[in-house]
Amino acid sequence: MTNLTINDLIKATKDNGLDLDLTLLRQAFDYADTAHKNQKRRSGEPYIHHPAATAHTLINLKLDQATILAGLLHDVPEETAESIHEIKRQFGEEVAFLVEGVTKLGTIKYRGLERYIENLRKMFVAMASDIRVILIKFADRLHNLRTLEYLKPEKRLRIALETLEIYAPIANRLGIGEIKGELEDLSFKYAYPEKYHETKSLFEKKYRERRHTLTEIKEKISAELKKESIKPIDIHGRTKHLYSLYRKLRLHDNDINQIYDLAALRIIVSNIRDCYAVLGIIHKLWKPLKGRIKDYVATPKPNGYQSLHTTVFCDDGQVVEFQIRDPQMHDLAEHGIAAHWHYTEKGKLSEIPPKKLDWINQLLQWQKELRDNKKYLESLKIDAFQNRIFVFTPRGDVIDLPEESTPVDFAFAIHSDIGFRCSGARINDRIVRLDTSLKSGDVCEIITDKKRKKPNRDWLKFIKTSNAKYRIRAAFK
Ligand code: MN
Repeated sequence: MTNLTINDLIKATKDNGLDLDLTLLRQAFDYADTAHKNQKRRSGEPYIHHPAATAHTLINLKLDQATILAGLLHDVPEETAESIHEIKRQFGEEVAFLVEGVTKLGTIKYRGLERYIENLRKMFVAMASDIRVILIKFADRLHNLRTLEYLKPEKRLRIALETLEIYAPIANRLGIGEIKGELEDLSFKYAYPEKYHETKSLFEKKYRERRHTLTEIKEKISAELKKESIKPIDIHGRTKHLYSLYRKLRLHDNDINQIYDLAALRIIVSNIRDCYAVLGIIHKLWKPLKGRIKDYVATPKPNGYQSLHTTVFCDDGQVVEFQIRDPQMHDLAEHGIAAHWHYTEKGKLSEIPPKKLDWINQLLQWQKELRDNKKYLESLKIDAFQNRIFVFTPRGDVIDLPEESTPVDFAFAIHSDIGFRCSGARINDRIVRLDTSLKSGDVCEIITDKKRKKPNRDWLKFIKTSNAKYRIRAAFK
């Protein structure tokens, strides 16, 4: 992204139809610019580019004025001597409260599992006080990820993993599809570079094959809708985010032909009745795949997501997914809980039927209940972060691994020498086979054989981590 000036921010507020006090916006921009005057980002850029980018994201989420101002000011108390009192004096109580919330979230000193739990706890406490704090934090993290290449490798890895394990699942829970997808894809590249490049080239190859089909399908459905006098607001192709593709591939033996929603056509029509009408028209043109018609309009996903989905066989035998929704469903799918403020701002809250707001209320309720409730956090961790496990060394260090990792993965995660000399393992004091799946909370001890020089090539059949696979393959080259 190019560097954003105050004029870009003003333009963005207009493009998004926001009614903001522009004098105050300028004032906040100048205040942050002056406060960060002697600071540079790691990239060498003036620091102001970071809060400006943060505010820009918040504007695109169509958030309210206090949140956008707080986005501009979010690093002032932490990075400079300026106090929160001055912010309160110039921009009011609400802005100061949000800035303080973000500052509190920023200080986490623990390591390993402790850090993880503490991080989660802070996120939830912040959400319980005001969910806008988390939205600012998302926007902040997004820009940090976009400029992650300038950081040291260890720090890069830590931020990328933390984003995948904590930020992205919460963004998903809050229904902010747009942010979740970008957070994940930016982190994916740094957290699992090998997998990232593998997935990317697999995707590009397959997408090239399908692009042509999608264009044809789009023309055909457009013509058919016209015949039936349905005026779509928009028809566009959407491709699956890479990290979400990667996770799905793992569930399907890495067979990309089983991923039906790699590329989908999204049709946006003006109301629910038209959504169902479009579904009927699609099924008249092409044969739907059994079990792939999903009515998330009648039964929304737990995070509030609504759409009709169907997958059909096209004329050339390719399968294509359709997603059909109205503009409000689309807004909720992309912006989730942030859309809530959008509607509140414009006094349009009543346009969302109370049922759709349920999940927001539930979430707020849920956050209030879990303040300082550790047991709840544990259950949440299991539920929302299913794809990672935490395994302990006999000394109590925590090793973070993908689900179904084995003692061999664990050994390589500690050190490749331990991996190479691994000859057996104990889990919770019991001798186990090396292909046993580890679980969160297990204490794992690796038994090594000093005379051993090379790993066992058969381990490749069951290990899960790319690090271990890479080391073993390299040892046989
Ligand atoms: Mn920041």
